[in-house]
Amino acid sequence: MSNLLRIAIQKSGRLQEGSLDLLKESGLSFSNGKDQLKTQARNFPVEVLFLRDDDIPQYVEDKVADVGIVGENVFFEKQKKNELVKRLDFAKCRLSMAVPRSENYTDVQWLNGKNIATSYPNIVKDFLQKNNIKAGIHEISGSVEIAPGIGLADAICDLVSTGSTLLSNGLKEVEVVMQSEAVIIASPDLDIEKQKILDKLLFRIEAVRKAKN
Ligand code: ATP
Ligand code: ZN
Repeated sequence: MSNLLRIAIQKSGRLQEGSLDLLKESGLSFSNGKDQLKTQARNFPVEVLFLRDDDIPQYVEDKVADVGIVGENVFFEKQKKNELVKRLDFAKCRLSMAVPRSENYTDVQWLNGKNIATSYPNIVKDFLQKNNIKAGIHEISGSVEIAPGIGLADAICDLVSTGSTLLSNGLKEVEVVMQSEAVIIASPDLDIEKQKILDKLLFRIEAVRKAKN
């Protein structure tokens, strides 16, 4: 049991398919039924745990899982004692500031004294500090893009890929705060056995990537 590497991946959502594909293309064979919480690979010393992505950094820090696949945005937001082991080249998006289209936004100083709604308060706090801006942060967990329209905030900081959600909510993207993609995170002090399994998996992931290019 303890010599299995426990890998936490998102149970359902935008990271799920890419995470499953990555593990399966690396040669791991396992079942993934809809209601399954965990499964053991048939041909590799790995156990896969299916969790909410937001919870994965905490589980890795607590050593319930040894490694996890999350968005870089979640890795940076949660600020846990985890290492970023590898960028995975899928689930690419950016975390951006957006303001109502009617605003005459000139530069980042516009945000001074404003209220920003976001699900990423720590990342936003760092961004504001770096830019010497004092603004309020209003943390909400979903539907951030409606906040300006209902008078909850002057601006938002949220994930963007095509920008169509912003557009349909009358917002425009004005600053890219960070680029993000899926990453492997790991507990910083894996035992030697587990580190060996992880190294083998990383080697296979790299081999698959090279074969594709
Ligand atoms: P929940 O936790 O309720 O499942 P969520 O918003 O955290 O919702 P997803 O929408 O599945 O979950 O997003 C998971 C991750 O996928 C995000 O943290 C981000 O890294 C990435 N992501 C989000 N939006 C996009 C997008 N439009 N394109 C590509 N990747 C995205
Ligand atoms: Zn989530």
